[in-house]
Amino acid sequence: MALINLKDLLNHASKNKYAVGAFNVTSINFIDPIMEAAIESNSPVIMQLAEVHFRYLNLEHIAPAIIRAAKEVSIPVCINLDHGKNFDTIIRAIRAGFTSVMFDCSEEPLDINIAKTKEIVKIAHSVGVGVEGEIGNIGGEAVGIAAPTPHEASAESFTKVGDAVRFYEETGVDALAISVGNVHGTYKGEPNLDFERIEKINNAIPIPIVLHGGSGISDNDFKKAISLGISKINFYTEMSASAVKAARIFLNENPDCISYGDLAKIVQADVKKTVMGRMEVFGSKNITASDKTLCISCDESSCGLTEPQFKPDAKTVVYDSLVDLITKEVLQSMRK
Ligand SMILES: [Zn+2]
Repeated sequence: MALINLKDLLNHASKNKYAVGAFNVTSINFIDPIMEAAIESNSPVIMQLAEVHFRYLNLEHIAPAIIRAAKEVSIPVCINLDHGKNFDTIIRAIRAGFTSVMFDCSEEPLDINIAKTKEIVKIAHSVGVGVEGEIGNIGGEAVGIAAPTPHEASAESFTKVGDAVRFYEETGVDALAISVGNVHGTYKGEPNLDFERIEKINNAIPIPIVLHGGSGISDNDFKKAISLGISKINFYTEMSASAVKAARIFLNENPDCISYGDLAKIVQADVKKTVMGRMEVFGSKNITASDKTLCISCDESSCGLTEPQFKPDAKTVVYDSLVDLITKEVLQSMRK
């Protein structure tokens, strides 16, 4: 019931000047605390799986668990593939029932990025799945045991306003991830966001814009970026680091612990705390409980929302046979 398309969700965020947090799931233990945080905060949420994190979980195994959890709650939940790099991964995510896919071809020249993203948009939109694209480079995503080497954004890789307009017009994406001084992983020194660029890009294109590399950005900078148009914020590194820290403290205090279940509970409590904190800063707290958002598109406002823009999307019910058909057609056209 509460699965929602990225487009509907972010358009609502954009219009009401808040951002939806997109939290990466790298363990099955993350699903419940992220969902609990969203329910208790009366906040919409995006749960996402990054292709780079497939080493931690199996996409086809974890997707049904997230979808099941999402369908049981009344808040809107979008399930997003984060940084899908390959065509196959995109199709796998759509088949698994994701309501959104990010196709990241940002390391390629703009022309190639546009051409490939356009194809993905055609496929995803035909089954009601939203697409996030990226231009400008944000750098490598957080993966591995140790903290990634801190790095800083290079102004050369910042998203150009003209490129954003061209990318939007030619691809038809639903949301755009931009490079404005944000980096994945850990920042070298203080993050220095180019707020003027955020505002210019937001004014130039009619789709919501996305900030990746949320960990390390100050609450004030988040609020300013949101006021200038950021509608989705990807947040993972800090959430993961905080959970590991909580686990370490627990193990130090309980050296005899042999119960993984109890250790997982500590991690879950910490993840929930982090996510709730972000929802407050991102302004998405109490959005589903406020008077201005009552849904007229579902019976008895059971989704907790009240605006027509916030339709729990019927189109996101993905039929395997339909996806099979599209996959076959696309593969055939690619072989020509
Ligand atoms: Zn990212």
